[in-house]
Amino acid sequence: MSDRPSEITSRINEIQKTILKLGQDQLDFAQLIAVSKYSPVEEIVMAYESGQLDFGENRVPELKEKALYFLAHQYDQVRWHFIGHLQTNKVKDLLRVPNLYAIHSIDSIKLIEELLKRESELDGKKCKILLQYNTSKEDEKSGFESLEELHSAIELLSTNKGAFDFHGLMTMGSIRTNDVEKEARRCFKELIEVKKSIEEKFQFSHLKLSMGMSGDYEIALALGSNYIRIGTMIFK
Ligand SMILES: *Cc1c(COP(=O)(O)O)cnc(C)c1O
Repeated sequence: MSDRPSEITSRINEIQKTILKLGQDQLDFAQLIAVSKYSPVEEIVMAYESGQLDFGENRVPELKEKALYFLAHQYDQVRWHFIGHLQTNKVKDLLRVPNLYAIHSIDSIKLIEELLKRESELDGKKCKILLQYNTSKEDEKSGFESLEELHSAIELLSTNKGAFDFHGLMTMGSIRTNDVEKEARRCFKELIEVKKSIEEKFQFSHLKLSMGMSGDYEIALALGSNYIRIGTMIFK
């Protein structure tokens, strides 16, 4: 039990080494988001104290509780990433979360409209927005399903600049397949193509890619992912 902090730290170090080996796009190394949704706040603090600053959560009430704990203890370097399916009635609470850095899982126009409406909840802070694209076409996965919808979402976001900064695209690899690696590669490559087409159409440069989890992050890194989101491998 007493070795828990060093166990978490060594897993994070291992992933950081893989990032140095595989994970550089033209500009920068990928960022590790430690997905802490399975973990009590004490374990997140262990990771934070070893230098991990980016954490991902997928439920607003849990994120809020953990973020308030961090705030109360003045762990103020933390950057919270929201990665779960977001309901419109939770937007207000999410935007009030201290040290909220990015939302990776925006998946509908309706949600963007709600964000814009609630912008003042950010209280002068900025928030990065990534749009989730459903590359696996699995029903239980959220995300925009067509380029047309994605284009409308981007138009809405970029004509309403303000607190929200359109930062990039997120996807998840397929789970229901007998060749996980091949399917992950296909999903990630599709996201890369979508990113390129958007950069061209809207004259953006260097949109970010959020892709890769415990089971497929090495594939994502090799393809140039900017954010890998890893839970199980660090905290289980
Ligand atoms: C849970 C989750 C992860 C982390 O998955 P692991 O397989 O535990 O690494 C990454 N992204 C999203 C969107 C998640 O919900």
